[in-house]
Amino acid sequence: MEQDVKIMPQSKQNKVSIVVPCYNEEQVLPAMYQRLKALMDAHTEYQWEVIFIDDGSQDATIEHIKRFHQDDPRICFIALSRNFGKENAMLAGFDHATGDCIAIIDADLQDPPEMIIEMLGYWHEGYEDVYARRATRGKEPWLRKKFSLMYYSLLQRTTQVDVLPNVGDFRLLDRKCINALRQLRENERYTKGMFCWIGFKKKEVLMNRDDRASGKSSFNFFKLFNLAIEGITSYTTFPLRIVTLLGLLSSAIAILLTAVYFTKALLFGDPVQGFPTLIVAILLIGGVQLLGMGIMGEYISRIFIETKRRPVYLISEKGGLEDDKD
Ligand code: UDP
Ligand code: MG
Repeated sequence: MEQDVKIMPQSKQNKVSIVVPCYNEEQVLPAMYQRLKALMDAHTEYQWEVIFIDDGSQDATIEHIKRFHQDDPRICFIALSRNFGKENAMLAGFDHATGDCIAIIDADLQDPPEMIIEMLGYWHEGYEDVYARRATRGKEPWLRKKFSLMYYSLLQRTTQVDVLPNVGDFRLLDRKCINALRQLRENERYTKGMFCWIGFKKKEVLMNRDDRASGKSSFNFFKLFNLAIEGITSYTTFPLRIVTLLGLLSSAIAILLTAVYFTKALLFGDPVQGFPTLIVAILLIGGVQLLGMGIMGEYISRIFIETKRRPVYLISEKGGLEDDKD
């Protein structure tokens, strides 16, 4: 009986994979590695695997990662052939992670790695998706915070699937969830929505999001705007976006002109009968039509991209991964 208990943890040692997407993170990576190493060394009850994904960085990110890999066999890496974006980089990680559960964490130390242990506790309790909700968001432009919250409340109202506000990609997922996510292979990825779409038993943990350790966020306002409408970056769809904007603009002008012409007609009379209403009607209808076409264009462009069935990412180099070892 006694012996059984002693042997059990060893034979049932759980493997935990940590997926870290990195884009131009040379400044923070050494610190990140130290934090992860300390964490792994302190918890040898688990078998660890860290997969750094270099998402086509232009700086020395890949050199750093390769050095970690040489120092520590628990560190693996995947280098993508160009910058595919964080969403796609994460899928590369999911495809190659071999753990019983998989943690996703940003490279910039905004998400405290030590929290993975707390998440693992809930995982042992049977939760399949343990996500961190930000109690504080770290240093962030005021406008971005406002827009982000507005965006989530809009999403919440317009979709059947709950997308949770103040929840990022920092989470621990059971293998079941990873297998589910790997089946979703669309090119226009919105992973945050996918986590919710797949379902499974969820548990929230609260975290204080730190400021970026160093370097700067690669998500500017326009990038986030794109992600918000499911991140369309290909230039083929750019004209459609302009059509939408033009539609909005002329609709706005039409509404403005309505007010101006009608007040003018009321106050000073109307020498050319019917002119204001005509102009307003033409502008309004034109604007609304363009807006409608733009929105339709957004959907058609997504269909266009998905029908090409291109791979979500391309790998230029990888090392240390389980599927390479044999
Ligand atoms: N990232 C990536 N590819 C990109 C942009 C970002 O892999 O094209 C990674 C980045 O290295 C970081 C994480 O995604 O680990 C979050 O990025 P960032 O800190 O710039 O975003 P924020 O925290 O401002 O939302
Ligand atoms: Mg960050």
